[in-house]
Amino acid sequence: KEGLSRTRQNLVQKVEQLVTGRQHIDEELYEELEEVLISADVGAEMALQMVEGLRKKVKEQKIGDPGELKRLLQEEIVELLGQETAVVDISKKPTVVLVVGVNGVGKTTTIAKLAHRWKSEGRKVLLAAGDTFRAAAIDQLEIWGQRVGVDVIRHQEGSDPGAVAYDAAQAAISRGADILLVDTAGRLHNKNHLMNELSKVGRVLDRALPGAPHEILLVLDATTGQNAVTQARLFGEAVGVTGLVLTKLDGTAKGGVILAIQGELNVPVKFIGIGEAMDDLRIFEPQQFAKALFG
Ligand code: GDP
Repeated sequence: KEGLSRTRQNLVQKVEQLVTGRQHIDEELYEELEEVLISADVGAEMALQMVEGLRKKVKEQKIGDPGELKRLLQEEIVELLGQETAVVDISKKPTVVLVVGVNGVGKTTTIAKLAHRWKSEGRKVLLAAGDTFRAAAIDQLEIWGQRVGVDVIRHQEGSDPGAVAYDAAQAAISRGADILLVDTAGRLHNKNHLMNELSKVGRVLDRALPGAPHEILLVLDATTGQNAVTQARLFGEAVGVTGLVLTKLDGTAKGGVILAIQGELNVPVKFIGIGEAMDDLRIFEPQQFAKALFG
């Protein structure tokens, strides 16, 4: 339930307001519903798809009472998100997780949160400061490493991120780490350059440790709404993203963006960020999410 109150207000309460006092489910109601969905950042296509789904349900279940729409919408969301909770498989030793995303989305914080989670479970975690473009990024990761209590493999600012990744993979093997989390650059002023660099880091990791990276997590900022969808599309095409982390769900009304992303990409949301602290990361459980939204 945490972190979803504003999305709930924006979506579910608006639906409630919409149906209150109505006698019939008519075309106008469907249109207004579609607008509510779009305003909650589920995206135009997904909004249309959801309304079509509702129409079908209304017909099939022979529903006449607008008051039932909220329940139907919840059913629809549950179906869209699927039953399964997608997790990161950390059975390989070491498991290498490459973390990508544009600057400011919460990539560094997410790495710290993941490190904290796995360390708390008794795993040995190592971090790689792969955003060599910014000295501040390296320092930031180092600070988080100290806070969480895990080592950080770092080179100087401006050095080759591939070299950092290679060293980190070697270190993970020799130190017997269970998980290596690799940070990456996130400047988007030159898309091709960034994507080439990310691919290269991926190849270098595979050379150091065949099969690595085992997971490529794309971090997206929920507060950016449809921009997050665009980024998901972009990174999804350029690097083989295997999972998404949606950050800053606390304090945003744009949580509906999860539906837009899941509707468009075949990549599951694996974690959600609900605050700035180490503990503020949750495994994304679609059923829980749908329930929390309507709870
Ligand atoms: P990076 O540039 O992608 O590495 O982004 P950072 O990890 O430095 O995070 C950017 C800002 O977002 C920082 O102020 C973080 O504290 C904040 N942040 C990250 N994740 C969350 C979250 O889940 N909720 C909130 N409210 N803030 C977050």
